[in-house]
Amino acid sequence: MAKSPEEQHPVKAFGWAARDTSGVLSPFKFSRRETGEKDVRFKVLYCGICHSDLHHVKNDWGASKYPMVPGHEIVGVVTDVGSKVTKFKVGDKVGVGCMVGSCRSCVECKNDLENYCPKKVLTYDFYYHDGTMLYGGYSDHMVADEHFVLRWPDNLPLDAGAPLLCAGITTYSPLIYFELNKPGLHLGVVGLGGLGHIAVKLAKAFGAKVTVISTSPSKGKEAIENLGADAFLVSRDPDQMKAAMGTMDGILDTVSAVHPLLPLLSLLKNHGKLVMLGAPAKPLELPVMPLLMGRKIVGGSNIGGLKETQEMLDFCAKHNIKADVEVIPIDYVNTAMERLEKADVKYRFVIEVGNTLKAA
Ligand SMILES: [Zn+2]
Ligand SMILES: [Zn+2]
Repeated sequence: MAKSPEEQHPVKAFGWAARDTSGVLSPFKFSRRETGEKDVRFKVLYCGICHSDLHHVKNDWGASKYPMVPGHEIVGVVTDVGSKVTKFKVGDKVGVGCMVGSCRSCVECKNDLENYCPKKVLTYDFYYHDGTMLYGGYSDHMVADEHFVLRWPDNLPLDAGAPLLCAGITTYSPLIYFELNKPGLHLGVVGLGGLGHIAVKLAKAFGAKVTVISTSPSKGKEAIENLGADAFLVSRDPDQMKAAMGTMDGILDTVSAVHPLLPLLSLLKNHGKLVMLGAPAKPLELPVMPLLMGRKIVGGSNIGGLKETQEMLDFCAKHNIKADVEVIPIDYVNTAMERLEKADVKYRFVIEVGNTLKAA
């Protein structure tokens, strides 16, 4: 019989776990592996609540394994390093994002694109190389191979910086890859949630003119005054959409609800690029004629490699980019999940794990 989560490994750990598809989280004792020679162990101080955590705890994607400790926007302080660790020492501030492993030998891994490795290992609700279950950052400490641990820039706040480990790299990587990081471009950002609000800040830092595109007119003032967007388009207003036709070089689409693509393709200039970052549960209808007539591109992107994630953190530190967060104690996590489901957060919950997680 398989060992219990508490007995599987030698190092005791404690966190909050979902036990079933209700997604309700409660205190949970488990264990983590000993510090391997390339491993970094760190005390978790903050962990962001990503929208995908909500999907995972509720088994929305159908493959969830319980008990599950979520969390992949994790920052903390190193408490122990293995004998062959070269990048980190005890006391360093570090972060772990969506991945803790990959094959390290395929073409993607060799090109610093571990996020596209067919054997990538996700941070939680996933089995590690040794076959044991991985638990995420809603917990007292983490252990991970140093290759998957990020250096935390000194001037980047731990709480408001944590969401960059997922939302930040998810929006930074496509701006670079699709060459939407050149000054003077006009970029659209669809959806103003965890991803969208960071996308606006990054695009502005790259020197773009940024237009937020949203179904809710109520978000306009916020987008312009607080996030620094240059313009706001209500996607349900045909006059506004018509006036903006053919004006954008690129669009980052962060919406995961099913939505029409034609209005967005119409906003693009010829040769413009629409990049999908949300993951709708059903296929979207793709009108091909506008692609042909304007040589437009529809693409997608999923997080980013470790090298690029480090570059993104350093870029954000340099440009003073951080998430807008609501910091919460761990025992508020179930309420936070309910509010997240209703999009009732500006824009990311971050759990103050270090100060509020008390061992049972
Ligand atoms: Zn995430
Ligand atoms: Zn690989």
